[in-house]
Amino acid sequence: MTNYKFKCKDIGMKDDFEVKGAASKEEVMQIAAVHAKAEHGMETVPADVAAKISAAIKS
Ligand SMILES: [Zn+2]
Repeated sequence: MTNYKFKCKDIGMKDDFEVKGAASKEEVMQIAAVHAKAEHGMETVPADVAAKISAAIKS
């Protein structure tokens, strides 16, 4: 069973947001993008941040 995980803290953010149990990296990215917009004021996730998130996703 896939269980992709990501924490904002993994990319140096100070909040406690985390994704657990996602089925794919793409799902993590989608959830993170919604969070980034709501909590970090990112209308879209910049490419450098997206790269950091992608690198920080664990499975
Ligand atoms: Zn966050």
